[in-house]
Amino acid sequence: MTAAVASYWEDTAALDESGARPLDGDRQVEVAVIGGGYTGLTAALRLAGVHGVDVAVLEANRIGWGASGRNSGFALTSVGKVGLDERIRKWGLEAARASVRLGVDAVETVRELIRSEAIECDAQPEGALTVAHRDERVAELKDRVRTYREGLGYDGVDFLSREQLERDGYLRGPAAGGAIRFRTGFGLHPLKYARGLAKATTRRGVAQFDRTPVVSWQRDGSTHVLATPGGTVRARKVVMATNGYTPEHLHPYFRGRVLPAASNIVVTRPLTAAEWQEVGMATTQVYSDTRRLLFYWRRLPDDRLLFGGRSGVFNTPPALARRRKWLEAAIADKWPVLTGIGSEWFWHGNVGLSYDLIPHMNTVEGDPTIAYAMAYLGSGVALSSHCGGLAADLVMGKAVPRDTPVTSTEIPRFPLPALRKAYLAGAYLAYGIEDRWR
Ligand SMILES: Cc1cc2nc3c(=O)[nH]c(=O)nc-3n(C[C@H](O)[C@H](O)[C@H](O)COP(=O)(O)OP(=O)(O)OC[C@H]3O[C@@H](n4cnc5c(N)ncnc54)[C@H](O)[C@@H]3O)c2cc1C
Repeated sequence: MTAAVASYWEDTAALDESGARPLDGDRQVEVAVIGGGYTGLTAALRLAGVHGVDVAVLEANRIGWGASGRNSGFALTSVGKVGLDERIRKWGLEAARASVRLGVDAVETVRELIRSEAIECDAQPEGALTVAHRDERVAELKDRVRTYREGLGYDGVDFLSREQLERDGYLRGPAAGGAIRFRTGFGLHPLKYARGLAKATTRRGVAQFDRTPVVSWQRDGSTHVLATPGGTVRARKVVMATNGYTPEHLHPYFRGRVLPAASNIVVTRPLTAAEWQEVGMATTQVYSDTRRLLFYWRRLPDDRLLFGGRSGVFNTPPALARRRKWLEAAIADKWPVLTGIGSEWFWHGNVGLSYDLIPHMNTVEGDPTIAYAMAYLGSGVALSSHCGGLAADLVMGKAVPRDTPVTSTEIPRFPLPALRKAYLAGAYLAYGIEDRWR
């Protein structure tokens, strides 16, 4: 069990006003939610606010301690890592279209939660860019825009040429050859958003227990019995909301289905106006690039640069120090004017990967009293906020749209789950080589 994670977000967020406290004694509720991130909090909010049931959130650490309090705050329309053409080929046109709608609906859910719950989380103007990291990738971005528009009937995307990127204050530099701009998608303060959700959940009368890890999960007839160090929670239903921190031992269904992978972030000192001019970003819209192991970045409202990327299989202090240096070097590589800028914060957190490269929201096979939503593949700010509510509906027996594999199929188990770390190391190696040459 760990306290707050040192990060820029932790240093700039308002206090947790959820009233969360460790469980002390036994409780009986209709639904227990395991995990106090966006998935768990939005599930609890829907369960109490719409279904009117008695709910307890059980969080091993602090509310928002997982990826929800540490991410880069991009609320995006992305849904997993299966490309558009492959979605059409494998799932059919209707499901591929529905997957694009799902992503747009997810961002709409975030916007609506911020509005209806009056969450102050520094929501920035709309716009999310995917930038070609090499000129050779520009044609592929143009094709992707065409597929969105002509194949999938979605016109919320524009192609921006190098000239447009420079002229309109989006980006400059050697790695700014062209981009897709998604009109839907925006940056927010992830921990303020998590704490805002927690406060809203408390207003609906939900009991939130932090520093309360569920250490065992038994059945007593139709009742789930969740043991924690401070007491036991008996619940008729459970929502599993643990994503990249999913324990392997707690329930046999969840063994071997999620591959946790580290994503890493640095935040620099505030850049000067002249430096931002050189970088070419006059906007606080959010960016990532076309690498397989993509870099992501944004100009924060206080003019610092946040820059992140996925790497690392082991979190030893020397490995973490290397990852920090690697991100600082990548900044200099993209914008030579920032060579030597260093960083004032560095932290990392777990994203959850699935074997079939898509997120999953469903009930456990053969047991409709357990719902789960997880494996957002590094793009879960919006999707977890949306899927938490869907998992709540599902566990309460309400029909949810089943028009994409995200909600119509179960999360598959990895073949040879014990080798997941080895897969990851292998993939990093292969993708790293590919990113250098393609
Ligand atoms: C560095 C980083 C950057 C990212 N950037 C972005 C981004 O910009 N945009 C985007 O869309 N996505 C991003 N993501 C992914 C996104 O943050 C996640 O998909 C999302 O927060 C998942 O929310 P969650 O509630 O499902 O999981 P989490 O927020 O990870 O919460 C899971 C919780 O479960 C708890 N838990 C685990 N086991 C137990 C137990 N036994 N008992 C009780 N509690 C337990 C954990 O303590 C944890 O708090 C990023 C992730 C990271 C790590």
